[in-house]
Amino acid sequence: MENEMKYSKDNKFIPVTSLSAHTGEEVAMDLFYYTNQVVNICLYGNPEQKDGWVLIDTGMPKSAEEIVSVVEERFGPDSRPKAIILTHGHFDHVGASVDLVRHWDIPVYAHELELPFLTGKSPYPEPDPSVEGGLVAKVSSYFPNEATNLGGHVHSLPADGSVPGMNGWRWIHTPGHSPGHISLFREEDRTLIAGDAFVTVRQDSLYKVLVQKTEVCGPPRYFTTDWQAAWESVKKLAALKPRVAITGHGTPMEGEELATGLTNLVQDFESVAIPDYGRYI
Ligand SMILES: [Zn+2]
Ligand SMILES: [Zn+2]
Repeated sequence: MENEMKYSKDNKFIPVTSLSAHTGEEVAMDLFYYTNQVVNICLYGNPEQKDGWVLIDTGMPKSAEEIVSVVEERFGPDSRPKAIILTHGHFDHVGASVDLVRHWDIPVYAHELELPFLTGKSPYPEPDPSVEGGLVAKVSSYFPNEATNLGGHVHSLPADGSVPGMNGWRWIHTPGHSPGHISLFREEDRTLIAGDAFVTVRQDSLYKVLVQKTEVCGPPRYFTTDWQAAWESVKKLAALKPRVAITGHGTPMEGEELATGLTNLVQDFESVAIPDYGRYI
């Protein structure tokens, strides 16, 4: 089964970074996020439980070693998660997936609509360098969009909304940025892991990505293909009234800033999130 697994054929190191790179923080006692270059991964689980935890998303291409060292720092040497949950399969969220699955020999879970992109069957639509969105959009044609192949290691998330290895959490289908995009929510303390359904740093400003200036904004533009669905997904997440949110890009946000940001994003989605021009409008 192992040799079935393969990175996408356009998988490569992408030379981008941010001032938050190589840092992380506890958002709850059992939830830690870490910024790998410009994307966040989450480690869910009590640090005392060496093998009882779950990894959410797997960072940028070529980052497996960095992720393993972050993990071992938090959970101890040779610790491994019970599972990997993917919010979606874009290159910056599956970057170390093949190496990590080989290293730990653990299952991966994603939404069934995302599986074609994770089993080598279908590439994502090409990123749109012509989309309104500044320099990052312009260089996005350089980003990998071919499918990763996790072979028999990747499975559909349970249909009942539960999340393997994450008691008290449920997954929420938040399509638009990608067809099988999901977010994770814990009712008890209203903690949200949003993936790229919305993010807290503007992806169309290289400067803001670098300094990670926070504001609630729509999903990264160059990869988003269904803007109406993306809008519905933001409404769905805003209705949960999250207390704190970790997004795929940018630093976590909480309280009033998050509530106001989400309310405004829902209200002004057409003018602030949806680009004025681009291939997928
Ligand atoms: Zn994405
Ligand atoms: Zn992303």
